[in-house]
Amino acid sequence: MERLAAGVRRLGLRLTPRQNEQFQLYYQDLVGWNRRLNLTAITDYEEVQVKHFLDSLTVVLALNQPLPDRMRLIDVGTGAGLPGIPLKIAFPDISLVLLEATRKKADFLRYIVQKLELEDVAVVVSRAEEIAHRPEYRQKFDLALSRAVANLTTLVELTLPFCTVGGRFIAQKKGDLEAEVQEARRATFIMGGQMVDVKKIELPELADERWLVVIDKVGETPPQYPRRPGVPAKRPLK
Ligand code: SAM
Repeated sequence: MERLAAGVRRLGLRLTPRQNEQFQLYYQDLVGWNRRLNLTAITDYEEVQVKHFLDSLTVVLALNQPLPDRMRLIDVGTGAGLPGIPLKIAFPDISLVLLEATRKKADFLRYIVQKLELEDVAVVVSRAEEIAHRPEYRQKFDLALSRAVANLTTLVELTLPFCTVGGRFIAQKKGDLEAEVQEARRATFIMGGQMVDVKKIELPELADERWLVVIDKVGETPPQYPRRPGVPAKRPLK
């Protein structure tokens, strides 16, 4: 995990030998289960360290501080656990919900959470549109994260309902974002959010254009949102 260790230092973090071992085990099982489950297109040892693990940890750049203990975090559409699991390895005292719609991916998540002996992690198999209406999840999180799940306008509807007022949503995005950010402004406002930053990731390890879209939750989300499953993607709020 040397490439990861070098990148992590640039983020101002350090990994203990145990954390290094957890990343190593995570890598092995990610690639092992990938043969059956199609979890990731990236399987090369060096590339996974940078494009999955280090990339997941870059959300700290949008917080200007390490993740506080017991911070309540939800990773919406986590897939194989990205960015949630790398963050949990690096910050073991956060409280994490991994939300994933696909049951088979959730089977992997449950397995890996146990294997890595991660505590205070819940794997929830559901769609965001459904569980965001349940009182135990609605407006209960300090931080919502989402990486490679949907267009920003759709994402805002799927994730902001989970954030407490005073909480934050960070979307991890790639490529040219300008139009996408403009289009998402109205949806952000409707959902009780305020866009505070679109931050470019400047790390030599991650040379392609990667961004953190940072949205603060400044007001309550109206109860009708998110709309029924599939609607936020099919008819994004304009
Ligand atoms: N975040 C991971 C990553 O960066 O590798 C996974 C990305 S994958 C392209 C998108 C994942 O989001 C899929 O596993 C999919 O099942 C899940 N997903 C998409 N829409 C969702 C929704 N509405 N609720 C929950 N999960 C969803």
